[in-house]
Amino acid sequence: YDDRDGKIWMDGQLIDWRNANVHILTHALHYASSVFEGERAYNGNIFLGRKHSERLHTSADLIDFEIPWSVDEIETAKKAVLEANGLTDAYVRAVAWRGVGEDMGVASARNPVRLAIAAWEWGAYYGDAKMRGAKLDISKWKRPSPETAPSQAKAAGLYMICTMSKHAAEAKGCSDALMFDYRGYVAEATGANMFFVKDGEVHTPTPDCFLNGLTRQTVIGMLKERQVKVHERHIMPEELEGFEQCWLTGTAAEVTPVGQIGDYNFEVGALTREIAEGYEKLVRR
Ligand code: PMP
Repeated sequence: YDDRDGKIWMDGQLIDWRNANVHILTHALHYASSVFEGERAYNGNIFLGRKHSERLHTSADLIDFEIPWSVDEIETAKKAVLEANGLTDAYVRAVAWRGVGEDMGVASARNPVRLAIAAWEWGAYYGDAKMRGAKLDISKWKRPSPETAPSQAKAAGLYMICTMSKHAAEAKGCSDALMFDYRGYVAEATGANMFFVKDGEVHTPTPDCFLNGLTRQTVIGMLKERQVKVHERHIMPEELEGFEQCWLTGTAAEVTPVGQIGDYNFEVGALTREIAEGYEKLVRR
C-alpha cells in the first residue's frame, strides 16, 4: 500500500502517496492514540460522509484528543483526495493520531494531533462470499465492557482484538469471526455489525459495548420502512441455532449475507437479498 502513485492529504496538504510517512517515535504507534474512519464513495459521493467526519471527531473526544480540523474542513479534504486520485467509487480512510512531540511516555497531551486522508479502490470486502454467504468463525476474544474501553470510539486500540480474531478465523478458512461480548452475548464481527432473521422478524444485538455502525443504523431504517419488525436486544449464543438468515453490515462490508457461523448454517433468504440489493440502490441514489 505504500509504494505507489497518487496523492494523500496530510495535515492540510496533498502530498505524494509514497511520501506520506511518519516518524518511528509517533505516540500512536506505541500507545494506540489513534482514531479512524472507513467510508465509501459511490458515483463521486461519499455515502453519509458528514456523519463519518462527525464520528471521527467524537472518537477523538472519547480518547482524549482534539482534531485540529473542523468537520467542514475534513469534508473538503476528502473531496480533494478523491479528485486528486481521479476516483469516483472508492474506499476513503481518514486517520487522526498523536504524533511526535514532547512526550514519549504514556501521556501525550503535548504531542501534536495529526490528520491524514487516503482513498483507493476497494471491491467487495468479503470477495466472492458477498452473495454466496460468508463463513464465520467464533472468536475466543470478547468485546470489552464499556467500562474498559470507549466502545463507541472507532479507535485503533479496539482493533487489536479484531485483528487477532480475524487472523484466527482466516487460519481456519473463514472470512471473518463473530465475537461475543464480555457478558457472553452475541456482539459483532471484526469490522461489521450482525443481523439475524427468524419468522420474518429481525434481531440485532444492542450496541452497548461495540460500534453502533452507520450501516447498521441505515439498515434498521430500511427494515422499518418495509414494516419489518426489528428487535434490538441481547442475543444469547444458544439462539444462533434457531435463526434462519444472517447478514453483516459495515461500510466496507456493505450488506453481506452469512452462510455459516461455527457449526450453524443460514440460508441466503429473500429478506437478506432484498436488504443487500436495497442498500446498493440507496448508496448510489
Ligand atoms: N464494528 C466494527 C468493529 C467496525 O470496524 C465497523 C466498520 N466501521 C462496524 C462495526 C460497522 O460500522 P459502519 O457501518 O459505520 O461502517
